[in-house]
Amino acid sequence: MLDSFRFDRLFIDGEWTVPLDGGVRGSIDPATGKVWGDVAYGGIKDIDRAVAAARAAFEGPWRRMPGWERAAILRRFADLYATQIDALARIETQDNGRAVRESRGDIGLHPQYWHWFASLADKLSGRTIPMDDSVHAFTSRLPVGVVGTITPWNVPLMAATWKLGPALAAGCTVVLKPAEQTPASSLALARLFQEAGFPPGVVNVVPGDGPAAGAHLVAHPGVDKIAFTGEGATAKTILKTGADTLKRFSFELGGKAPHIIFADADIEQALNAATGSAWALCGQSCALGSRILVERPVYDRVVAAFRERAARVRVGMPLDPATHMGPQAHHQQLDKTLSYIDIGRREGADLVAGGSRIDSPDLAGGYFVEPTVFAGVRPDMRIAQEEIFGPVAAIIPFDGEEEAVSIANGTPYGLAAGLWTSDTGRAHRVANRIEAGIVWVNTYRYIRWSTPYGGFKTSGWGRENGIEALDSYLETRTTIISTTGRFA
Ligand code: NAD
Repeated sequence: MLDSFRFDRLFIDGEWTVPLDGGVRGSIDPATGKVWGDVAYGGIKDIDRAVAAARAAFEGPWRRMPGWERAAILRRFADLYATQIDALARIETQDNGRAVRESRGDIGLHPQYWHWFASLADKLSGRTIPMDDSVHAFTSRLPVGVVGTITPWNVPLMAATWKLGPALAAGCTVVLKPAEQTPASSLALARLFQEAGFPPGVVNVVPGDGPAAGAHLVAHPGVDKIAFTGEGATAKTILKTGADTLKRFSFELGGKAPHIIFADADIEQALNAATGSAWALCGQSCALGSRILVERPVYDRVVAAFRERAARVRVGMPLDPATHMGPQAHHQQLDKTLSYIDIGRREGADLVAGGSRIDSPDLAGGYFVEPTVFAGVRPDMRIAQEEIFGPVAAIIPFDGEEEAVSIANGTPYGLAAGLWTSDTGRAHRVANRIEAGIVWVNTYRYIRWSTPYGGFKTSGWGRENGIEALDSYLETRTTIISTTGRFA
């Protein structure tokens, strides 16, 4: 179904439409640096059209539809999605350069996310509140309304799934604005929404530039909530832009996850997880263990293993199933990663692997960077404090639990953390003190539809996945009814 799909139109009110005040632009393949196809971008008028369609669909069929009927449509969509995994993975990889073996693995899990959210659609019950005999009090949970979802370029389909799943289950309607660098897979997603039989206007997809189309969606009085994944700096701008409307916001933001390896851990397992997660998605994921905290007795062994394993990473064309790591997703990110490698060198960290752009003849023009490892990193260095979002691991030595916890918590971020130890008591003690929305013990990056995900501190507001995901798409109404008919 998606093999001959065209990306040069927007999806608004159940129809494919040319942009009114946006346009059609070439989207860049980061593996070659060249345009791979034409993609539609919406402007202000297109966002206005999409919001109007979402509002009409919300007030019309969608919020009134019984939950089990919404669930049935979502299940149909999940089944359809499952038939299109390969096509979706190819489209996403073409646009953002993530190795197709990874895209396929991630996207292959999405149907179960959609089924999970479908299963919540008819269970939005409130509760009865014990009062005195003169009143009966209960709560109801109601959809928040029209949701503007703004997603990043590193995992466009995952970010859309995590937002649209709970939003639609809750009875909200949606305008999805994917990142300008990687709009293709979100438009393909719209094709599946159309095919699955969602009423027109329930889901609208309008790629567009952040400061124009994105900002207009945020400021729009017809939008009740913004669900955003991206950088903290953008979230601050969004808060200011949307302040006058006092709409609801949820934010999934950056991270600088500590991955702590104690000397008593199963070091081989810890290394598999730590090296795998240092370079997954070419380093472009919020939950990667980009700070590797290593207890001194095993420090040299871990550094040597990182050096040796960095050399074994197969960097190559992302659509080749044998490739481990593709290019950075766009030129700006390439520049950012290279500039941080420079900063690490100047800060005096010990560069033990990588450190350069790859410009071999077979990868010429692409935004490829060597898997890079800095050892001897101090916790206050910028490469240990700031999110690089590239394949750059920073290895920091520590002595004992106290120092590990203090370094782990010593950044403004609080999204994810990992720790490796064979001591169960220590696992509980340390996990309990880590300021992060998710802590993995003796495993890493294991995430499912049912496990809440989100950040402490500057890493976000609210939670995605799990039953908690519904909270940010629902309002609670309390009803209090007199049982006597008398005003007291
Ligand atoms: P970004 O903030 O640059 O862009 C994200 C989205 O915001 C894009 O769609 C962009 O067009 C839009 N945008 C930009 N300016 C805007 C404005 N003024 N008003 C409205 N919208 C605007 O982020 P990015 O570079 O695409 O993504 C990388 C960031 O996302 C990293 O910080 C990463 O950690 C974070 N991230 C977090 C999670 C999570 O679950 N916590 C998941 C993935 C990515």
